[in-house]
Amino acid sequence: RIADKKVVEWKYTTCGYCSTGCSIHVGLDKDGNAVATQGVADADVNRGKLCIKGIFEHELFEAPGRGNKPLMRQRPYEDEFQETDWDTALDHMGSEIQRIQNTYGKDSFAIISTGQLLTEEFYTLGKLARGCIGSNNYDGNTTLCMASAVSGYKRSFGSDGPPGCYDDFDHTECLIAWGSNLPEQHPIIYWRLKEALEKRKFPLIVVDPRVTMLAQFADMHLPITPGTDLVLMNSLMHVILAEGLEDRDYINAHTKGIEDVEACVKDYDPITASKICGIDEDTIRNVARLYANAGAAMSIWTMGINQSTHGSDGVVGINSLNLITGNIGKPGGTSLSITGQCNAMGTREWSSCSGLPGYRVLEKPEHRKEIAEFWGIDEEFFPKKRGLTETDIFPAIETGQIKGLWLVATNPMTSMPNTARIRKTLEKLDFLVIQDAYADVETTHYAHMYLPAAVWAEKEGCFTNTERRINIVRQVTQPKGDSKPDFWIFKELAKRFPNGQKIHFPETPEGAFEEMKQLSKGDKRTLDISGMSHDLIEKSRGIQWPFREGELEKVDDAQENGVKGNSRLYTDGVFQTPDGKANLIPLPFINNNEVPDDEYPFWMNSGRVVEHFHTRTRTGKLGNLNKFSPTPYMEMNPDAAAELGIQHQSYVRIVSRRGDAVVMVQTTQRVPRNMVFIPFHFHDCVNRVSLGLLDPHSRQPAFKQCAVRIEKVDQQ
Ligand code: SF4
Repeated sequence: RIADKKVVEWKYTTCGYCSTGCSIHVGLDKDGNAVATQGVADADVNRGKLCIKGIFEHELFEAPGRGNKPLMRQRPYEDEFQETDWDTALDHMGSEIQRIQNTYGKDSFAIISTGQLLTEEFYTLGKLARGCIGSNNYDGNTTLCMASAVSGYKRSFGSDGPPGCYDDFDHTECLIAWGSNLPEQHPIIYWRLKEALEKRKFPLIVVDPRVTMLAQFADMHLPITPGTDLVLMNSLMHVILAEGLEDRDYINAHTKGIEDVEACVKDYDPITASKICGIDEDTIRNVARLYANAGAAMSIWTMGINQSTHGSDGVVGINSLNLITGNIGKPGGTSLSITGQCNAMGTREWSSCSGLPGYRVLEKPEHRKEIAEFWGIDEEFFPKKRGLTETDIFPAIETGQIKGLWLVATNPMTSMPNTARIRKTLEKLDFLVIQDAYADVETTHYAHMYLPAAVWAEKEGCFTNTERRINIVRQVTQPKGDSKPDFWIFKELAKRFPNGQKIHFPETPEGAFEEMKQLSKGDKRTLDISGMSHDLIEKSRGIQWPFREGELEKVDDAQENGVKGNSRLYTDGVFQTPDGKANLIPLPFINNNEVPDDEYPFWMNSGRVVEHFHTRTRTGKLGNLNKFSPTPYMEMNPDAAAELGIQHQSYVRIVSRRGDAVVMVQTTQRVPRNMVFIPFHFHDCVNRVSLGLLDPHSRQPAFKQCAVRIEKVDQQ
């Protein structure tokens, strides 16, 4: 590699895209410019490998569109933005937030963050949002991707936190991937799985309506009817319980609710289930037997489960399948949600999702008290229960309940369902602030103020990956222009609020980490990081929580090789519920999706391509990635296309009850005849059409399913 020859220094950090958590070295030339990226050979997660996004990650530092100065204007669209200095910008922002709150009430200002910040930044933003601004309406865009997993884990196990790890691939004897296409979503996790399969053969079963890359690689592909996962799960449990294949000892010792589940799944015999979910009855029986008879079996899942009208139930169903077969907390036996963003877990642990830091919840008075005392504020300042999620904040803007909004590294004009509605909603705001590394994100068009933030490796702190591994992010280069680390922006804005004078905000991310350690201490808390430090995390190439105070001393070679942490949760079968038992919950299937009909005869499915990340605010700027995936497209079955007289690579209009978009067709057998598939990354495309009905528990949108029709477009 020519670029490598220019490198005079390699700096260690963690990849800033997906939740896999790969360790990288960024190569700097003699002038300090990032010119190359390499995988770190001694990192447990990626062992020197990188996916295509990681390989070109150094290009991000010089990508176009970075913001250099804070920008302000009176009226969006009408006035030009004017550059200003940070003091003026933060003074104005602080006074605007307080003006809105004083006029319309404390909860009339909302904050939506992201899964992209560093964990110390989430903790600091949580402190600012809950302790100083005091609005109850604070959420993360993780509601669009991981809220169902959080909700499902809490309902089954009493707490969030994926119980398994990648090493489970090396021990499992059967793996079901539910709506998860690892080769495109999480290529390095796919590589780990492939390596495990090359060493030791075990059945890989993929449940997905589309013939994804992972499905092509699987022993069994179950092309399920969209939205019917619960039917298949119930039917698998029906067979397992009817044939006596369950682990009765585990059920009796560690769970409660089996009678209710038994009663529920009686209705889902394979013949009945097959007619709803489209998987033949023999396959259902075979899969149930393979899973239950395996010495250790695991399930992984991603958005195919979470982004559904019953996403939380789907997660509970997977957990129940694992609980009744005794597959939680043992090597190769687990229930592992694969998260999306690099630090989706960080926001779950320390910020918006749980309401209060360290998986504490606002509803519990003892949790409110603990945090209020620790921060030194009046407990009454906290609301008594969680406020609106991201998906409920936008309707609340429509009704005038919310007047001001602060978006931190999130881009709803591309990411949220029903673009036309989001556009109208943003136009109603009195005050919209965008904080992002890039000034040209689509949503900035609607903003009164823009704050330029540093990109991930211009800052210091941690990410938590999918398997609860805390990785260190080291600063590789200085922030560009006058952009600032989000950590600095949060702590400086805090000074503009009365409580910001009382609450201590540490000056450095490491200082914030020390506070987080104090707050995580306690025998019963799974999220205990009290034995970690930034330096130990770096030396160890990541540590899996919990890692408690005193554990370091028990590791003989910790000084030379670092420590691993704890790779699995619930190894003793004791869960985070009041009585320590996991909940088995009956899940009757109610079909509440928008389904195809005569007017809109196709399912529309959406997902990722390997070259892009989320709304392309970063990858869309990198020539080497755009070269491979420059434009949106729609996969369509060749028979369906022929029936409508549609040619491969011609343009069509995809139309739903919400709107339409024009897109190029790729004919392929990957999708069944009654389905089309579109990557979700592109602006003014899939989300002009998507519906986004919400899961009642998690409030996550059902991006994966809606009904559409396809119209030919005049090619002139
Ligand atoms: Fe980065 Fe994810 Fe690719 Fe690893 S798999 S290099 S974490 S984008």
